[in-house]
Amino acid sequence: MTVHYHKGDLPADLDLGPIVAVDTETLGLSLTRDMLCVVQLSAGDGDAHVVQMVRPDYDCPNLKRVLADPAVEKILHFARFDVAMAEKYLGVTMEPIFCTKIASKLARTYTDRHGLKDVTRELVGADMNKQQQSSDWGAADLSPAQLEYAASDVLYLHKLREKLMMMLDREGRLELAKACFDFLPTRARLDLAGWPETDIFAHS
Ligand code: MN
Repeated sequence: MTVHYHKGDLPADLDLGPIVAVDTETLGLSLTRDMLCVVQLSAGDGDAHVVQMVRPDYDCPNLKRVLADPAVEKILHFARFDVAMAEKYLGVTMEPIFCTKIASKLARTYTDRHGLKDVTRELVGADMNKQQQSSDWGAADLSPAQLEYAASDVLYLHKLREKLMMMLDREGRLELAKACFDFLPTRARLDLAGWPETDIFAHS
């Protein structure tokens, strides 16, 4: 596993292929308060690319091109948050999407443990270290521990997608999952526009 640390943008000539794992790190979990700091990507080859954002300009045309490319499927865990962050700070809509959290909720109905660490442990057999989760992602230089953590969040997503697709297919829920993924940009825009956490389809 190699972690490539890019400051500002991805290299222009980097080809990550048709299915890219994506994650983001922010200063906190609030869409209105906290800024996007880091975007991580992997082609599923065991390497990770960690792109540190230059705030507040977010001048990263190569990264934006990959994220906005309709020919590139983006795999994310809890895509709702990252999709909103990408809309707000990068001005791009990430589509098409495969959200491993939604897929897990639709396929793994025998459990309520759908965090990335739990799903990865069960389906890939890998143990993720979540120690750097709440660290200062706005720092001028990311530490080796932060880089390793950021990278680990995208390294298993291709394998998870494969496993979850098999389970969804087995349970006849692939179409339902796809329909949920397609709604994600809308859900993210509702979040950004201030609609509450409550399901928009809820009665009250
Ligand atoms: Mn992460």
